[in-house]
Amino acid sequence: MIFISTMQLTRTLDRGEFYCPTCESIQGYRQRSKRTFLTLYFIPVIPISAPEPFIQCDNCKSPWDLSVLHIDQRTHEQVRENQFRNEAIRSCVLMTLEDEEISEAEIQSLLRISRVILENPISREELGRLSSVAMHSGIETQNYVMTVSKRWNMQQRFLALQAMFLAASSCEEEVSDAKIRQLGRLKDLLELTETEFETVIEDSLMFAGV
Ligand SMILES: [Zn+2]
Repeated sequence: MIFISTMQLTRTLDRGEFYCPTCESIQGYRQRSKRTFLTLYFIPVIPISAPEPFIQCDNCKSPWDLSVLHIDQRTHEQVRENQFRNEAIRSCVLMTLEDEEISEAEIQSLLRISRVILENPISREELGRLSSVAMHSGIETQNYVMTVSKRWNMQQRFLALQAMFLAASSCEEEVSDAKIRQLGRLKDLLELTETEFETVIEDSLMFAGV
């Protein structure tokens, strides 16, 4: 009886250094290629697939498409920065909706926050879409911030806190208990010291009239 099977072989074609988006730093990589072979008595004899090249980080072992070699650190940071600005405005929308309503003054305030604090102006339509998503999701501000803020650097944490504080205090009436509770948890969630937390809140007051 002839014993025929298939086997996947991976070999290293090249080595070099690249910016690994997972490690967020320059790491060594191996350019590798995966190919399926037909085996005869467990010996690969005929390739039955085209070689599939990929890049593997030496440090975290993440596999990447070859195009990762064209991403430089700056491009990557730009992508991260945009992601942060989107996450920060979402956090503000959630904070505003903690009392389950949104007034015209709050809408104006969120638009201002996106423009002045986050420097990423959003349209009223976009804000409407974000609010409706946030309303339906029922996610608490602190739970959302807990998941996304792990990726934020210190500067971004300060900025997001400032934006959320302004969002919470933008209604004409007294700030609701729900919002105060959420704000109080942000210090620990964002891993800030008492002093850092207070400084950011004090700084926010300068923007309150913006
Ligand atoms: Zn890596």
